[in-house]
Amino acid sequence: MIKIAKFGGSSVASAEQFRKVKGIVEADPDRRFVVVSAVGKRFSADNKITDLLLLVNAHIQYHVDCSALLADIEQRFLDIAEELGLKWPVRERFETFAKNIKKHSPEYIVSRGEWFTAHLMAEYLGMPFVDAADVVVFHHDGNVDMERTAVRLKDVMARQGCFVLPGFYGATVDGQIKLFQRGGGDITGAILARCIDAGLYENWTDVSGFLSADPRIVDHPRSIRRITFDEMRELSYMGASVLQEEAIFPVREVNIPIQIKNTNRPEDEGTIIREKAAAGEDEHLLTGIAGKRDFISVHIKKAHMSGEVGVVRRALSIFERYGVSVEHIPTGVDSFSVVVNGADVRDSIYSIVADIRRELEPDDITMIDNLALLSVVGRNMSKRSGTSGKIFGALGDAGINIRMITQSSQEISIIMGVENEDFEHAVRVIYDRFVRDEMV
Ligand code: ASP
Repeated sequence: MIKIAKFGGSSVASAEQFRKVKGIVEADPDRRFVVVSAVGKRFSADNKITDLLLLVNAHIQYHVDCSALLADIEQRFLDIAEELGLKWPVRERFETFAKNIKKHSPEYIVSRGEWFTAHLMAEYLGMPFVDAADVVVFHHDGNVDMERTAVRLKDVMARQGCFVLPGFYGATVDGQIKLFQRGGGDITGAILARCIDAGLYENWTDVSGFLSADPRIVDHPRSIRRITFDEMRELSYMGASVLQEEAIFPVREVNIPIQIKNTNRPEDEGTIIREKAAAGEDEHLLTGIAGKRDFISVHIKKAHMSGEVGVVRRALSIFERYGVSVEHIPTGVDSFSVVVNGADVRDSIYSIVADIRRELEPDDITMIDNLALLSVVGRNMSKRSGTSGKIFGALGDAGINIRMITQSSQEISIIMGVENEDFEHAVRVIYDRFVRDEMV
């Protein structure tokens, strides 16, 4: 089986991290195609090379001298090369780069973080370096040309048998460097996995996969061993994010599983993400809980609305007019609510309500602000009847008032609105009863 091993910035932040990467790659002969991010943070107050390169661009734009900054960046690469005894000419290459800095495009400059990192990693692993600019092909509109990219990647794969590829960038056919969005090394890994028909996309980072709840709210939450793509979307949408969202699509479409692994604790199982989670010993009722604060719900009531065509559409078009994205629309018989992100309507909520009043002539409009949304996610919930009732009951017993409820159509999640101030308490109540104690 071919495995793509993608290592994030913290996994390649120092010589010590390079050693761990080597240990991981050499532990499994299937790991022959490696993707790296740029050298990242060694500790929380440290700087990522990509951030420093963005700063270089800002200096150039404002005609400020950036030689000290460039020297800092170079030093990070030199330190790694020296400690590992690497021969690749960091100093010469960096000098050439720095000397011509004003001639380069901003995207080229930022892409050098991964370019230097991948060169060092390639030598250290004894694998060829493949430049992403030669294989990841962008259309001029910024999208990846998957067909051309697949042809080129398959070709180098057949010729080289193994390689190290820098993440985060590619180039147009005329050689202009293009970047993915921040964190885009994950996207490169996914594209590579798809183009060379890998059996697994390993994403090595600094956490042992997804946690079933936010560790800032719940003490030592259980890690999730198996999760489906849909469940992950629900959890990451609510803020529990480990992986660059866009990285999911290339592999999901062709059914390649992703495994999140921890470079600092490779023995941990991590989280495996697939289209359908294969049943296993740890089939829990709930997969995870996530949530966010500061939503607003606008509740619109109109007698006999159920017989009137187009009321909801007209209400939504008012939100659309103000460029506000709608999160949820829980409906009743003669009423419905529109739930939006508080920050999105900070300046427009009163105008929106006034327009609704004028155009829909409702009997009543009420607004609930300071609403937190809590998403309880679990593919197994639909198999057990009464789950939602028990969750609502547990919150009720804890004195938490539920202001809103919606359930996704596949029944993999239940979303509840509670007061902002009840948010953490609600997460703990559900976690303790349904995850920690697995009481159903
Ligand atoms: N180095 C890039 C960033 O910091 C891309 C990546 O790390 O995946 O955003």
